[in-house]
Order: sequence, then C-alpha cells, then structure tokens
Amino acid sequence: MSTEFTSDSYSKTLFEGLPEFQPGWVWLVGGGPGDRGLLTLHAINAIRQADAIVYDALVDETILSFARPNILVEFAGKRGGRPSPKQNDITLRLIALAKEGKRVLRLKGGDPFIFGRGGEEALGLVGAEVPFRVVPGITAGIGGLCYAGIPATHRDINQSVTFLTGHDQTGSMPDALNWDAIAKGSQVIVMYMAMKHLRSITAKLLAAGRDPHEGAAVICNATTPRQAVLVSDLQSIAEETEKSGLKPPALCVVGNVVRMRDGLDWLGFATQGKTLTATPLKPKE
Ligand code: SAH
Repeated sequence: MSTEFTSDSYSKTLFEGLPEFQPGWVWLVGGGPGDRGLLTLHAINAIRQADAIVYDALVDETILSFARPNILVEFAGKRGGRPSPKQNDITLRLIALAKEGKRVLRLKGGDPFIFGRGGEEALGLVGAEVPFRVVPGITAGIGGLCYAGIPATHRDINQSVTFLTGHDQTGSMPDALNWDAIAKGSQVIVMYMAMKHLRSITAKLLAAGRDPHEGAAVICNATTPRQAVLVSDLQSIAEETEKSGLKPPALCVVGNVVRMRDGLDWLGFATQGKTLTATPLKPKE
C-alpha cells in the first residue's frame, strides 16, 4: 500500500528535523541567483519561521510569500537610483532586531560568502554577541553559468576555475589582483561585478598574453526570465557588450568552456527549440 501524501504532510516531512529558528538569532541565508527554484530547503525553512526579513536587491521577491503574515520585511538594497544603506547600518539593524528578540533572517543574493559581505555582517554579530547561522546559496557564478549552458569546468578544457570581482570597495579595478598572474594561471575566469571595467580587464588579460580568440561571454540577469547571454571572444567581448546595451547584474566568463554552450544550452533548447550539437568543440566547417 502506498502512503498517501497531502500537501500538508509533504511539507511536514520536508521540514522535519531542520533547525528551529530561535528568537534573538540572525540567520544569514543565500537566496540563490534569481530563480526561486534554486532556493534551498534551509532557506525556505528560515523564511517560514522568521519574524523579520532584511533582504537585498537580486533576491526574487516572490519568495517572501513563504513568510508568515504581518512580519517585518525590510529592503536593504539599491532602489530607484537611491543609494543602498551603508553596510555598517545594515549590520547594526540586524543586531537591533535580534536584541528585540526577533528571529532575524538576512536574505542575500547568491551565496552569502561569495562577494556578498556575509563575513562582514557575521563578524558584526559576533562582536555584538548575537548568535547566528549561515545557509549557503547557489552563487551566480555557478548557477548563472549553468543556466547559460556553460559548464564551469569541462574535463577537456580546464582543471581549475577562478572567481574574481571586477571592482573593489572604492569602485575601481581591484589593485590587489595580480592580473598578469591571473591571465597566465587561470584557465577559466568567472568575473562578478565586471561590467564597468570590462574594457580595461580584457585589455590587461590580452596584454598578459591571453589568446584574443578565446571564448568569452556575458550573462545578464541569469536564471531569471530576463536572462540574456552574449557570446563572443576575449578581444571583442567588451566592445560588443557596450554595443548591446546589456546592463548589470551580469557575469563575465573568459575561457573555452564558453564554446560548450553550442552543445549545452539546455534552456535555449527547452524554451526556444534551439538546435544543439554533440561536438561543440569541433572546429566549425
Ligand atoms: N553573493 C552573490 C554575489 C553578490 S555580488 C552570489 O553569490 O551570487 C553581485 C554581483 O553578482 C553582480 O554584480 C553580478 O556580477 C553577480 N550576480 C548576482 N546575481 C546575478 C544574476 N542573476 N545574473 C548575473 N549576475 C549576477
């Protein structure tokens, strides 16, 4: 005899044994790159129990509908051209809400510990003696590439992958990065926040001897219905991106894994009937 599952018993079984959100705690939770199907059970478990949710831009707001009614929901990102709250103010807000005895969910885009300042917020909590938990999320550099049909690694192409940010705290190109070493040592480079300086970044990679014809792509609004992918090569990607008018949030990928998209663009296949090839690395006739 098979057990009959109702939607209630499903959710009971799904969430059974997952941690209980204690009052006065802060949970830093990764919300994934956009598509709410990429949330983890831990993330939904947190949303269902929270008394206060402080969320960033880049988080799909429909996921807030899993929350209990009448809880406090605060937006902590940039909106309508207005600057985002200062990082320190967000941390202080989390501390204040936790000290009020609330279950505070800090919901962040992607993964909290990948270019997400999750570490800074968590250390602020440590300093204020607020207990916390961290839930990883699918980072844009992994989930976004997958939705573009670009594998972060492929055995015939690369045995390593580098994640980097295209700008530092001041908004400039990160000085701390040794671009020459990256060009020489990184087989595949996945760049976050690189749109602003894409021209200078690609110039530095080329100057350090990187192949101008190597594959490169820009993926905007990855995993959302507005996803747009531009495929080019290293020497042309910056100019083509400027011409295309594509805007952040975007990832830029440099490496021949980009060529795999001809075979692996599963989303293009599923939604637009795109024809895929089983030999994407074979030179075109
Ligand atoms: N913690 C996040 C990254 C935050 S930094 C994560 O793990 O994904 C913000 C940058 O992430 C954006 O400027 C962009 O480079 C990238 N990003 C986040 N979501 C994205 C998306 N849906 N599509 C493309 N890039 C995205």
